[in-house]
Amino acid sequence: MSRNNTLDVIKKHNLRLTKSLGQNFLNDDDVVRKIVDAAGLEEDTLVLEIGPGIGSMTKELAKRAAGVVAIEIDKHLIPALRDNLSEYSNIDIINNDVMKADIDAIIAEYGEKYGTKSVRTVANLPYYITTPIIMRFLEEVKGVQGMVFMVQREVAQRMVAGPGTKDYGALSVAVQFYCSPHIIFDVPPHCFIPQPEVHSTIIRLDVLEEPSVSVKDRKLYFKLVRASFGQRRKTLVNGLSNAGFLQKDKEQLKKILEGMGLKENIRGEVLSVQQFGELSNLLTL
Ligand code: SAM
Repeated sequence: MSRNNTLDVIKKHNLRLTKSLGQNFLNDDDVVRKIVDAAGLEEDTLVLEIGPGIGSMTKELAKRAAGVVAIEIDKHLIPALRDNLSEYSNIDIINNDVMKADIDAIIAEYGEKYGTKSVRTVANLPYYITTPIIMRFLEEVKGVQGMVFMVQREVAQRMVAGPGTKDYGALSVAVQFYCSPHIIFDVPPHCFIPQPEVHSTIIRLDVLEEPSVSVKDRKLYFKLVRASFGQRRKTLVNGLSNAGFLQKDKEQLKKILEGMGLKENIRGEVLSVQQFGELSNLLTL
């Protein structure tokens, strides 16, 4: 373990950390270096960092990328963040909520500033809002080629889980629809100030040029996925006929499953990312 200056910065600026904003700051430079290694940065990469905190990881990112745009929600941290990063000229700090900021506009503006279209997202994510942030970056944000996130260990396991396992769910399907996910390494609680109650994992999501499944109606695909996992104990036929958005009765649904070579009493949670695609295409008029 190689401690960094997190504690000094907290003391110098008399910071009170806000638990509800997920403020557990990395206090280990070896971990920071390994996360940044995993991000695969090039000289021309623009990095979007979510939640820089006091900037422990931002510094290492700035050393290895063309520029870093760091989006931090907590205005109380901004003076300490600016002070801690004052030696770096290629860091831009935006005080905003990453769920509200116009990320496409930020990528366009800073991509132009640094003359690049190579964009990666790196974040030690606030755990209270991990899934909404990841979903936003998967579904709405364009132009990001790869993401490296620190998440709660269980969330990383859900992202890589396969059909029929207990961790497999709507998040697994969404991540594997858009990306190829790779677990990189675990980070124990003692690497943070304050220590979180959970173990953390670094996961890399390589964004696919095209989604892993070709679907005619993406909205319907994700409606099917949500309906299938929303009622895990029900059979797929019951879950879908209860969901209310399909104009198909149980017999018609059974026939469609039969046509896919699936049993009529199959549960949704055993369908692969591809099988959800096949089903959604068969249900698309
Ligand atoms: N990157 C720093 C580190 O590794 O030491 C801090 C990581 S800490 C787990 C999460 C950070 O995200 C905090 O600084 C917190 O204030 C910030 N944050 C929480 N919610 C946010 C949001 N909606 N938008 C942007 N930043 C957020």
